[in-house]
Amino acid sequence: MDNKRDLIIIGAGPAGLTAALYAGRSRLDTLIIEKMATGGRILMSEAIENYPGFPGGVTTVELIGRMENQVKDLGIKFENDEVTGLDCSGSKIITSGGEYSFGALIIASGAHYRKLNVPGEKEYTGRGVSYCATCDGPFYKGKKVVLVGGGNAVAEEALYLTRFADSVSVVHRRQEMRASQILQEKMRKEKKINFILSSLVNGINGGKSVESVRIKDLISGGEIDFACDGVFVCVGYEPETQFLKGKIDMDEAGFIITDEAMLTSAEGVFACGDCRKKSLYQVINACGDGAVAADSAYKFIADRSR
Ligand SMILES: Cc1cc2nc3c(=O)[nH]c(=O)nc-3n(C[C@H](O)[C@H](O)[C@H](O)COP(=O)(O)OP(=O)(O)OC[C@H]3O[C@@H](n4cnc5c(N)ncnc54)[C@H](O)[C@@H]3O)c2cc1C
Repeated sequence: MDNKRDLIIIGAGPAGLTAALYAGRSRLDTLIIEKMATGGRILMSEAIENYPGFPGGVTTVELIGRMENQVKDLGIKFENDEVTGLDCSGSKIITSGGEYSFGALIIASGAHYRKLNVPGEKEYTGRGVSYCATCDGPFYKGKKVVLVGGGNAVAEEALYLTRFADSVSVVHRRQEMRASQILQEKMRKEKKINFILSSLVNGINGGKSVESVRIKDLISGGEIDFACDGVFVCVGYEPETQFLKGKIDMDEAGFIITDEAMLTSAEGVFACGDCRKKSLYQVINACGDGAVAADSAYKFIADRSR
């Protein structure tokens, strides 16, 4: 088997698929390696309403299916395998199944939301349990929502949700929030936001969709069922970059640092989508990143062969 490719892309989510589209159109010999199913994290949601060109929304299966077909029509090959290591000096990646060498590498391995791991969370994901206010906030117009978390993310999400929801309750296990003072001041000024501190959510209940959360008061030990229409879990977003530790520069949370051309600290290694440090984690800019990364990879390979 010939294991050398012009370009290898790690991850077949929106970022990796868009990178493959641009690479295919530049006629780069490209391989995408995906450890799970083609499509990435957006497939956890049934539909997407904020992707341009689809008024009223589009199912994620349709959107991803279109992206995948467009890439396959260009002859791009897919491999189902997990990348476990990177050897920058040898321009090689190590996978569960073997090794591949590359002219350029694009990392599009994404990120995942940290879970609460409480009963009802998995069952009601997409039916009242959400991890992203930008994605799902508009569904909660006039409704009552609970947010779980204590940092800047929960503060920003809570403030954003006041545009839609009538009541926004923030549950945090400590007596003090960890969010910046400025954000805390903004939250306290907002009449719709209230705090349930020194407490945790230990269960999510409902019928067809979420109807309440079980809240435990960590001081008294008492528990109540708190009625709500939605729960936003804001306890962290973790990049899928553990397999690259020590090989390229990352921030303290493990998000890959790139420049505007999506170049990482390693020559010929680019990163795009949710695995890189940036300010908005959405499909639209994951795709934008993927296009830039493929264009940069193409220029890198072309320069080298001159
Ligand atoms: C429930 C939910 C709802 C959302 N709703 C919206 C929305 O309405 N609008 C919106 O714009 N965004 C939404 N998002 C965010 C959106 O899903 C992400 O921003 C987007 O998927 C990022 O694309 P990506 O390609 O960078 O990463 P991902 O989609 O995470 O894809 C990365 C891929 O890389 C693979 N991979 C990881 N590590 C390896 C490895 N070592 N080897 C091989 N393969 C690997 C993964 O299996 C995955 O398939 C939502 C996310 C979730 C979870």
